Amino acid sequence: MSKGLEVHQFPCLDDNYGYLVHDRETGMTAAIDTPDATPILAALKEKGWKLTHILNTHHHADHVGGNLALKAETGCTIIGPKVEEAVIPGIDRAVSEDDIVQLGASGARVIEVPGHTRGHIAYSFADAGVAFVGDTIFALGCGRLFEGTPAQMWDSIQKLAALPDDTVVYCAHEYTQSNARFALTVEPQNDALQARAKEVDEKRARGEWTVPTTIALEKATNPFLRPASKDLQETVGLTGAPLVDVFAETRRRKDNF
Ligand code: ZN
Ligand code: FE
Repeated sequence: MSKGLEVHQFPCLDDNYGYLVHDRETGMTAAIDTPDATPILAALKEKGWKLTHILNTHHHADHVGGNLALKAETGCTIIGPKVEEAVIPGIDRAVSEDDIVQLGASGARVIEVPGHTRGHIAYSFADAGVAFVGDTIFALGCGRLFEGTPAQMWDSIQKLAALPDDTVVYCAHEYTQSNARFALTVEPQNDALQARAKEVDEKRARGEWTVPTTIALEKATNPFLRPASKDLQETVGLTGAPLVDVFAETRRRKDNF
C-alpha cells in the first residue's frame, strides 16, 4: 500500500464489510459502498476522518442502503455506475469503464464488471495496489448472477484476474468458509485449496476475518478463476470444453449447493 492511502475495514450488517479509504495527504475519505450508515459513521468518528465521497459498486440495498443518511450527515459526493444511475440513491457522478475517480493524490480506475448486476463496477487503486470488487469475486467465490449472463461474469472475472498478482482484493462479504466447502467439492485435488480451507476454518474459529485476499491467492484456489484446471473440468464433466462453459457449470453447481 502506498504511503498516501489507508484502508479501514469493519463489519456491517450480518456478513458485509464496510470500508473507508483515506488519503493521508488531503484527508479525503471515501466509503466503498454503504451497507449501513450507523457503523460507517462510528468508524469515521473512531478514525477522526470526514467523509468526502461514497463509491458505490452496484445498486443492491446492502451496498447503497446508507447513501442518503450519510450524504445528509456529511454532504459527501456519491459516485456510482452509469448503467445503474437511476437506482443509486443520491448519485452525483456516474462513471464507466476506465474513468478515474480521484481521492486526493490517489486515483481509482473504474472497471466494469457486469454479471452480479448489469452495471456492477470495481475500483482499482493501482498505485496503492488495492482493488474494491464488491460482489463480483469473493474469497474462494463469486457473486450470484442476478442480472447478467455467465459469459458476462466470466469476462468480468478475467478483467479482475488480469490485475497484478499482489493486488489486495477487498470484497464486500465474509462468505469464505461456505465458499471453501463448495470449492472443495469441485477441485478436491487442489493442495493449495485444501491448505487454504483449513486456514479459513481456523481463522473463523478464532473469530478472525478472511478478507482481504489477493489476486494470486484467488487464481490458485478460487474455482471461479480456475475453469482451465483439468481436475475441475473433469469434476464438472466438461473436460476440454470452452472455459466459459466450465465457469457456467461451476456457478450453476454453486447455486444448487
Ligand atoms: Zn449485491
Ligand atoms: Fe452484497
